[in-house]
Amino acid sequence: MGNLYFLSLGSGSSGNCYYIGTNDYGFLIDAGISSVRTRKYLKKYNISLEQIQGIFITHDHTDHAKYAGILNTKYGIPIFTTKRIFYGMQRNRNLKNPPTFCNFIHKNETVQLRDFSILPFPVSHDASECMGFTFSFHNKNFTIATDLGFINDFAAQQISLSDYLVIEANYDEQMLENGPYPEPLKNRVKGTHGHLSNHTTATFLAENWNGKLKYIFLCHLSAENNNPRLAYQTVFNKLQNKDISPHFLAPLDRLTPSELFIL
Ligand SMILES: [Zn+2]
Ligand SMILES: [Zn+2]
Repeated sequence: MGNLYFLSLGSGSSGNCYYIGTNDYGFLIDAGISSVRTRKYLKKYNISLEQIQGIFITHDHTDHAKYAGILNTKYGIPIFTTKRIFYGMQRNRNLKNPPTFCNFIHKNETVQLRDFSILPFPVSHDASECMGFTFSFHNKNFTIATDLGFINDFAAQQISLSDYLVIEANYDEQMLENGPYPEPLKNRVKGTHGHLSNHTTATFLAENWNGKLKYIFLCHLSAENNNPRLAYQTVFNKLQNKDISPHFLAPLDRLTPSELFIL
C-alpha cells in the first residue's frame, strides 16, 4: 500500500509550497518559492523534480503561483488548476514566466492521478478564484485549506473527512487590531474573502471534532500579526477545553522547510 509523505517547503506571504507523495512520486501544491529552493529542499529527501507529477495551484496570488511558470516551462511539470485561476496567473505581472500550458480542473470534480484522487473545492478568498484540495490515497485523506475568509460548507465537509489537515491560522485577532496594518488592509485580512484567524480555526476544529483527524498543520501564519507559539496555543487551548488532544498539532514555519512527515 505504501506510505504517504508530506513536506512543507514554505508557508506564508513570502511563499507557499507543499509536497505530498509516495515512495516513488508526488505532487506540489502551490509554487510560491523559487525553483532553485524547491529543488534543493526536495533533494534533501532524495526527491527529484522529475518525480513531481503535477503542481496544483490554489489561487493566482503571487505567494502561491510565482514560480509555477518556471517549473512548468523549464522542468516540464504539468500545472493543474481551474481556468479562472490559470488566466489570473497569466494576468499577474509579478509571476516569473507565466505558465503557458495547464490541465484545467473543475471545482467539486475529482481528478484521478495514479494512486491519488484529488478533489478541488472552492473557498472564499479575494483572488480570481481559490481552491482547497483533498488528496485521497488508499483511504487516507489529506486536505489543504489555505487563504480563506471563512470555512464554507465545502471546506467543512472536506475537513470532516480528513485524517490529515493543513489549515490556515493567519492572524491573532488582537495583534491584527493593534498592529501596523492600515485600516483597509486590516479589513481585507479579516473579511470573508481574506484569511482565517487563529481563533476562527481553533473554534471550528473544537466545535466540529469527530475524532478522525490525526495531524493538524497550521499554515500561512502572518509575520506581522501572528507568531507560531500563539497560533499553536490558541488551537491547543480550544481543543483542550473540549477534552480533545490531537495526535499531532504544529504550526508550519514561514521560511524553513518542515521535516518530511511519513503518514
Ligand atoms: Zn497567500
Ligand atoms: Zn491569497
